[in-house]
Amino acid sequence: MNYPEEAYQKIKNSLPNDVCLVAVSKTQPIESIKKLYEIGVRDFGENKVQELSQKAPMMPKDTRWHMIGHLQRNKVKQVLPLVHLIHSVDSSRLYKELLKESEKQQIVVGILFQIHLAQEESKYGFAPEAFREFIQKEVLFDHPYIKPRGLMGMASLTEDNAQIESEFAMLKQLFEETKPEAGAGWKTLSMGMSQDYGIALNQGSTMLRIGSQIFGSRQY
Ligand SMILES: *Cc1c(COP(=O)(O)O)cnc(C)c1O
Repeated sequence: MNYPEEAYQKIKNSLPNDVCLVAVSKTQPIESIKKLYEIGVRDFGENKVQELSQKAPMMPKDTRWHMIGHLQRNKVKQVLPLVHLIHSVDSSRLYKELLKESEKQQIVVGILFQIHLAQEESKYGFAPEAFREFIQKEVLFDHPYIKPRGLMGMASLTEDNAQIESEFAMLKQLFEETKPEAGAGWKTLSMGMSQDYGIALNQGSTMLRIGSQIFGSRQY
């Protein structure tokens, strides 16, 4: 397999047209990102603010950066001018910081709420019940700068496909449940990575975050 262009094309060609493929470029050199840009790719995912801040100025302005990793509140100021979509809004405190800082900078940014699906304790995100409470308490959907677009989740690291499937199904259900309240902008269900994106697609994913299947293994 020829990485990353051929690998990207192969995945992209297998997807329905309305599914967005985010190339997760964390740890990958800028040359590899540029190769994909040259064949028309615009959506790239990074999980660290520092790395994103270094790479963003090296790419054309129409590159769409996706922040997919845990975001600390003290990095919000730095990340806002760089990103197209933040996938990892995982707490009420982070959400409030985003409201405050986006108003200050007058920057419109899309966000996804990250929901904790996996069995592992280490993953970030709202527990499904906590998210239901959160959206009942907060007025989320008419802010001038912060635009909630949907949900993101990561399945357990397991070979048990039935487990992964049930976690993605749970996320899809929560996404549908929230739709009536959220309105027309609620369109994005970010689920599926290199190892589980087939299952995610079957469960209604609209956005895949794929790294190693596009770039080859990561270069730490
Ligand atoms: C690294 C990462 C991915 C991509 O993982 P691969 O297994 O390389 O496809 C997707 N989502 C998040 C949040 C990540 O940190």
